[in-house]
Amino acid sequence: MAKRDYYDVLGVRKNASPEELKSAYRKLAVKYHPDKNPDDKVAEDKFKEASEAYGVLSDKSKKDNYDNFGHAAFENGGGGQGGFGGFSGADFSDIFEDFFGDFGGNRRSSRGRNSNNRGSDLRYDLSITLEEAYSGKKQNIQFSTSEKCNTCKGNGCKPGTSPDRCTYCGGNGRVRSNQGFFTVQQTCPQCSGSGEEITTPCNDCNGQGNKQISKKISVTIPKGVDDGTRIRLAGKGEAGTRGGDTGDLYLFINIKSHDLFKRSDVNLFFEFPISVADAALGTTIEIPTIDGKKAKIKIPDGTQDGKQFRLKGKGMPFMRRGDYGDLYVQVKTEVPVYLNKEQKELLERFRKIENEKSNPSIKKFFQKAKDFWKN
Ligand SMILES: [Zn+2]
Ligand SMILES: [Zn+2]
Repeated sequence: MAKRDYYDVLGVRKNASPEELKSAYRKLAVKYHPDKNPDDKVAEDKFKEASEAYGVLSDKSKKDNYDNFGHAAFENGGGGQGGFGGFSGADFSDIFEDFFGDFGGNRRSSRGRNSNNRGSDLRYDLSITLEEAYSGKKQNIQFSTSEKCNTCKGNGCKPGTSPDRCTYCGGNGRVRSNQGFFTVQQTCPQCSGSGEEITTPCNDCNGQGNKQISKKISVTIPKGVDDGTRIRLAGKGEAGTRGGDTGDLYLFINIKSHDLFKRSDVNLFFEFPISVADAALGTTIEIPTIDGKKAKIKIPDGTQDGKQFRLKGKGMPFMRRGDYGDLYVQVKTEVPVYLNKEQKELLERFRKIENEKSNPSIKKFFQKAKDFWKN
């Protein structure tokens, strides 16, 4: 089916002023708007036809092309001399949006000039040992990110050229439209608010201004980091576009579980097994500490199972402070197993000469039990 002439569609003369075009389009748009004519295919087509006509005639360069070449100007590969790619569906939706956009819900978020040019933040998960968390460390990490293109210095243009003013918004980055009594401002859909259009893109980055690279950096893990600590490395994320800020890199620390030490905040814990004889007679034990050294604890005679000893300052460092948490050592008495003949004989002898005073808890319990049976 042959296309109707755009001026006929809008019902205006060829030399109609921009105001006349707009008012003609608005009348038709309101009349045939899909919200007013639900499920009406004819109205929908009329609405689209009017929007398309207005989209071309309201744009100076598109109008010139149409006036010179007619509909052929907008066919794929057609005779348009202006270097634009015809009238796409995207253009149509933009015009639709200019008139009804912000009232129609969340078709497009209109963000500020630079917020959507900022580079993305990156996350890097790093697993370290408890010893490394204790002493802190420097580590090289490698990750994939984007970097400002050196050839074009990030502006996306072939060296020696510069971006043109955006033809859609005239370089404002914002477009205004009237909606009934309101004037609505929106981010330009063509240039995403930059006000610029790249006509001769840089060959190295295809006009992106950024290049994907594998980056290696050295990071410092401060002493005292805990499982789940997040370290922000400002400006180490992806490069921004069109002069936007670089994103940040976040290191997420994971601390591998330790064979010996359990950690709670800045304090460390472990259980130390001792023999019944050591617990009864007392001894001095040598224990490992997280700095790789040893410490001594005096176990007094008669130490009961579960007794906890605290070694001040032998825990983990507080982050960005000079001091340290504590190390708690819990004694676990081990009842001997696999006794040989001599050990058994000695223990039998010990059982015979054991007196009530040596086992106050046992004595106390039996006293209670006796009272219970009596009543
Ligand atoms: Zn480039
Ligand atoms: Zn623009």
